[in-house]
Amino acid sequence: MAPDADAGGTTLLWLRRDLRCHDNPALAAAADADRLLPVSVVDPAGYGPADFGGPRSFTYEKTGSHRTRFRLDALDDLRTRLRDRGSDLVVRRGDPASVLSDLVDRVDADAVHVHTRPTPEERAVEERVAGALSAPLVRHWGHTLYHPDDLPSDVSGIDDTYTPFRKSVESSASVRAPAPVPTIPDRPAVDPGEIPTTTDLGVDSEPVDDRTAMAFEGGETAALDRLDAYLWETDSLREYKQTRNGLVGRDYSSKFSPWLNEGCLSPRRVSAEIDAYEERRVENDSTYWLRFELIWRDFFQFQFAKHGGTFFTPGGIRRREIAWRDDETAFGRWKRGETGIPFVDAGMRELNATGYLSNRARQNVASFLANDLRIDWRKGAAYFETRLIDYDPASNYGNWAYVAGVGNDSRNRAFDVLWQAHRYDADAAYVRRWLPELDGLAPDVAHEPWTLPDEERARVNYPSPMIDPATLSGDG
Ligand SMILES: Cc1cc2nc3c(=O)[nH]c(=O)nc-3n(C[C@H](O)[C@H](O)[C@H](O)COP(=O)(O)OP(=O)(O)OC[C@H]3O[C@@H](n4cnc5c(N)ncnc54)[C@H](O)[C@@H]3O)c2cc1C
Repeated sequence: MAPDADAGGTTLLWLRRDLRCHDNPALAAAADADRLLPVSVVDPAGYGPADFGGPRSFTYEKTGSHRTRFRLDALDDLRTRLRDRGSDLVVRRGDPASVLSDLVDRVDADAVHVHTRPTPEERAVEERVAGALSAPLVRHWGHTLYHPDDLPSDVSGIDDTYTPFRKSVESSASVRAPAPVPTIPDRPAVDPGEIPTTTDLGVDSEPVDDRTAMAFEGGETAALDRLDAYLWETDSLREYKQTRNGLVGRDYSSKFSPWLNEGCLSPRRVSAEIDAYEERRVENDSTYWLRFELIWRDFFQFQFAKHGGTFFTPGGIRRREIAWRDDETAFGRWKRGETGIPFVDAGMRELNATGYLSNRARQNVASFLANDLRIDWRKGAAYFETRLIDYDPASNYGNWAYVAGVGNDSRNRAFDVLWQAHRYDADAAYVRRWLPELDGLAPDVAHEPWTLPDEERARVNYPSPMIDPATLSGDG
């Protein structure tokens, strides 16, 4: 996949979800020219209502306010960082195929360098751009821990179950060293343009709720600060394996996901930093476990490279025949966090207010929709696509399919959301944080307010459960 270097001449670097200077293989290759034009194209098609496509299609909003804000901040930060290196970031709003072909002709570029992605929609855009350009589109791979060329087998041969995949890469592949930041060549004279605002993109801007797990600021600068803080300043990595199922706070997990997914942070950089931490502080089950989770991320990327659009079908890669329900009223209650099951509602309200949700809460709200309400899991996944600040197609649809029982595991993945609530939120701090109407109730009751005597229940302004709690599914 890595091309021959285009020495001399002019290159264009098309930045997509790789908004960083560190460990950026496309930047390293494009910088091997006399002149380099870094460009990012904000495509209006990525915002506003969209058709899901395929069988049983529906409409949803592609990118909500949390991720839009994060992404625009990331563009702004990258522009500053490139300016500090004597270059700039050209930003245009429009169709990438026409914007890039115009710029290529204007600066007489010899090649356009880009990071490719394994997911169908991103691939289709790449193909359209390649077809429109008068110069070659040179594709690089730069968003996973392992490079596909280093996998023990071709992507078509990788196992569909996580554990064999993990064992195979752990025993037979190694993580490449991060690419150094190159000296950035001069830029052809092109107007850098304005970075659009959320309003320009037709996205409502919502204030950040001060109960958010942390202030997620887009950009490489904030990403590297967070990496530094999580490992070195707070030493939180030391206990990651014990804290990672947490629900409240900044440091129970790394919170790297928004930066990893917009490409402000490279997973190889994280891995190199874990190496240094293991050498200078401690090597334990927690340092291992953060890599273990990054391998999950890789797993879904390579699964999408293998199975493509099948992941988006109702029966998923297992092609299961499940009679998913369409029930807009029930779906609306789930989205708003008004199901009457506090642990589910707390999760949905946190997601709506902040764009972030812990892994534990994601598993529970997803399982409730897919396994208890039996509503088409893709609608839930599409709602996550809108709301998540760290949305990635492979991680999101891959995890949703997994929880809904149509993905990379043949076992039943239904969660008993009540058991989970008592186990992971024993003091009910999480539900009371996001459902202030339950404040003052004892923990057990806060998780099951329907057990209150009728008069007390009438005083608590909280909905009755939308399904009989005794029928909730799952084995734990
Ligand atoms: C229904 C559902 C939808 C999800 N959607 C997304 C999504 O759109 N984008 C996303 O990045 N993650 C998604 N996840 C995975 C996981 O919940 C988040 O990566 C994690 O909560 C992010 O917080 P963190 O960075 O603090 O994670 P940490 O626990 O600190 O983990 C470190 C990193 O490992 C990776 N990781 C951890 N768990 C997973 C996993 N199960 N799958 C893939 N990568 C993982 C992430 O990159 C994460 O940043 C989803 C999980 C579920 C159950």
